[in-house]
Amino acid sequence: MDTILYGIEHKVRDGIRLTRDEGLALFKSDDLAWLGYLANIARKRISGDYVYFNVNRHINLTNVCEARCKFCAFGCDGDSAQAYTMTKEKALSLAKQSAQDPDLRELHIVSGLHPEWPFEFYLDVVRSLKAELPHIHLKAFTAVEICYFAKISGLTIEEVIKALIAAGMDSMPGGGAEILSDRVREQLCPKKATASQWLAIARTAHQLGIKSNASMLYGHIETMEERIDHLLALRDLQDETGGFQTFICFPFHPANTELESKIMRTSVWDDLRTMAISRLMLDNFKNIKAYWIMLTLPVAQLALGFGANDIDGTVSEEKIVHAAGANSSRSLSKDTLIGAIRQAGRVPVERDSLYNIIKVL
Ligand code: SF4
Repeated sequence: MDTILYGIEHKVRDGIRLTRDEGLALFKSDDLAWLGYLANIARKRISGDYVYFNVNRHINLTNVCEARCKFCAFGCDGDSAQAYTMTKEKALSLAKQSAQDPDLRELHIVSGLHPEWPFEFYLDVVRSLKAELPHIHLKAFTAVEICYFAKISGLTIEEVIKALIAAGMDSMPGGGAEILSDRVREQLCPKKATASQWLAIARTAHQLGIKSNASMLYGHIETMEERIDHLLALRDLQDETGGFQTFICFPFHPANTELESKIMRTSVWDDLRTMAISRLMLDNFKNIKAYWIMLTLPVAQLALGFGANDIDGTVSEEKIVHAAGANSSRSLSKDTLIGAIRQAGRVPVERDSLYNIIKVL
């Protein structure tokens, strides 16, 4: 084994932070089993044998989006045949229908950047959902959407977040980080929040007491250096605020996107090594999520052996990844998630959106 890899193994065993060069060395390793072995050591020390899931529902208010990122199969123009918009009443009715399940605890709300809707519409949706379903946690709006709300309302980022908190937003999802590199964003998503804006919005949210998630969309045009720099930018911000709850690896799904003919779907090999390396680099993140919607349940289950300790939720009606041809289910039952976690030798734990334990199963 190379000296650097030997040194990494010792550092992981002793719980010592890895450097950028060591992160890059991990991406150069072709020893997937060894990466999983190291990630398991870190996972066990940081989060033990509990694997978390929650009972949630996704609401995507519209797919009409003015950003039209090249990697996105969900966003479309208003006159596209696939375009849809949801009224406040429709969102309420979907939420109330799902809330008939007494276990439902979270609504995950993300949408396209609609060119005509005012910020007040989103506030109204959040206010109404909170008024009708006060016991349901509203995890709503990525940093990209918050950035857009500031643009269309003329408010500052802080004012936008404060208004959403007053309306009933409880936490923020982690999407829109993609790769925090100006080079990548200029090529793939030049119309939405920049890397520094995404980080600044997460920082502001954390300072205002709002927890958020972090993510990385990998497997498109980014380099391994950019993956590691992305992880380090998140690690630095987490050192500063402690406001990230979990980190989610999103493999890029090229189907139905502008990049479909140029880029292949990531391999399971890459999915697992990226999961493991994320666990190893993000030593200050308690949770690493294997998002079964993007990975498929079998790969998400396998990822539990590569550093993941969270398998997301029951989800109910996922639209964004399925627009890009994902062949996972659109929702899973609680029993299916519990079974998958147990088969991996871990302890299933139902959690709420802030990672409080509801039940150890
Ligand atoms: S990734 Fe988000 S911002 Fe970009 S086109 Fe899709 S919906 Fe719009």
